[in-house]
Amino acid sequence: MAKGYKAAAKRALAEQPQVRESVTRATLHFDANRARAYAEVEAEAWRDWAAATKRHTLSRLDRYLIQAEARLLASGAEVHWAEDADDAQQILRELIDRYGVQRVVKGKSMLSEELEVNGLLERLGVEFFETDLGEYIIQLAGEPPSHIVGPAIHKNLEEIRALFHEKLGTPPDASPGALAAAARKVLREAFLTADMGISGANFVVAETGTVVLVENEGNIRLSTSAPRVHVVLAGIEKLLPRVCDLEIFLQLLARAATGQKIGTFVSLLNGPRRPDEPDGPEHLHVVFVDNGRSSVLADREMYEALSCIRCGACLNTCPVYRQTGGHAYGQVYSGPIGIVLTPGLRDPRLAEDLGYACSLCTACADVCPVKIPLPKQILTWRVRSAKRAPAAERMAFAGYAQLMTRPRFYRISGKLLRIAASLTGAPWLPVLGAWAAGHGALEPSPKSFREIWEEDLGNA
Ligand code: SF4
Repeated sequence: MAKGYKAAAKRALAEQPQVRESVTRATLHFDANRARAYAEVEAEAWRDWAAATKRHTLSRLDRYLIQAEARLLASGAEVHWAEDADDAQQILRELIDRYGVQRVVKGKSMLSEELEVNGLLERLGVEFFETDLGEYIIQLAGEPPSHIVGPAIHKNLEEIRALFHEKLGTPPDASPGALAAAARKVLREAFLTADMGISGANFVVAETGTVVLVENEGNIRLSTSAPRVHVVLAGIEKLLPRVCDLEIFLQLLARAATGQKIGTFVSLLNGPRRPDEPDGPEHLHVVFVDNGRSSVLADREMYEALSCIRCGACLNTCPVYRQTGGHAYGQVYSGPIGIVLTPGLRDPRLAEDLGYACSLCTACADVCPVKIPLPKQILTWRVRSAKRAPAAERMAFAGYAQLMTRPRFYRISGKLLRIAASLTGAPWLPVLGAWAAGHGALEPSPKSFREIWEEDLGNA
């Protein structure tokens, strides 16, 4: 059976039409909100500045990481470095042992998905709760997230009603408010009894060692302040040099993600609870994770992908993502940024499949708040994959390139193709196979464009 994005997309379209409907509706809504929110400000100038700030940070990442570590240590946090997912899991395992953790509450974190933290917690017998409502829904459903910002974007109300009815015993026709209340009841109890909170980080400010978290539900604030231990999982690319950089980044993130002026809850965390503070964790651990980021950073054509602030705007505007949602990509990161990041983080060979989940419409480049050249990078992955294509395919394209760069051959072959097409009576030659099947039929013109043009010039 065929594997990869193409096969998964085909299956999703045939078997789950409701996914397409839900994803399209939600992403169009997000995208319209983003467009309106960008129009309210000097978005181009903000995006240029944000892109330059991120490029600057990436170009001095070693320096900013050391600075952030020093500030975090000075604030009373412990800092850990994880080269890959195994390292990160080992660090978590040791912390869970050290504090005798039995119950964990989690804030939404794509890095936690990348590191397969839930699998680790399950293996260790630690009870855990995803506390973002969307994440909680997909935890109940036993599914991975389908979108960076809206993990349950692919589910409609009927599906969530059925799920909550089965798992939480809510009435089969419960209102959205009643569903949220049922989730809140479970999660409140979890916040109050958990030993450890695990979160990601939207940004880490190097000059102060501040961990910045942005959310709309207040669940991250509870996850990071109620339990006695808080563990932050932060990709090494999450740094910003200065606190004042947040002024633009916080607004850009919210505007790009949902069209809000700023996230409903913005938490700036500086170390664990001080003796005179009423709440907050007794222990704060920050785990800086590489997991392939250094090799992306070393790639001159790809490093800007590390500027990503995970707003999801490129997914929302992508006509390909809208058809299937994120699961068809079969990876943690989907949509345009997933196509660019996944082969760099995991395996370049993944680009042979993912690189083609793109129509090269370039809409993603127009919306990205940090101006990552996503279409150019996707094309670069295609070029790299093409170098590993089967010999016959490479020969066919080399021949095609010869043809297209020699006007005489081009004219003769065009003539031959028109004759062949008129003899077979078929508008497409069989050699075009599946590619032709996905396109509208064209009737071959009896004359080439050049012949018609020359005739017209003669008649003028
Ligand atoms: S690549 Fe740009 S648009 Fe896409 S999620 Fe990242 S920051 Fe947002």
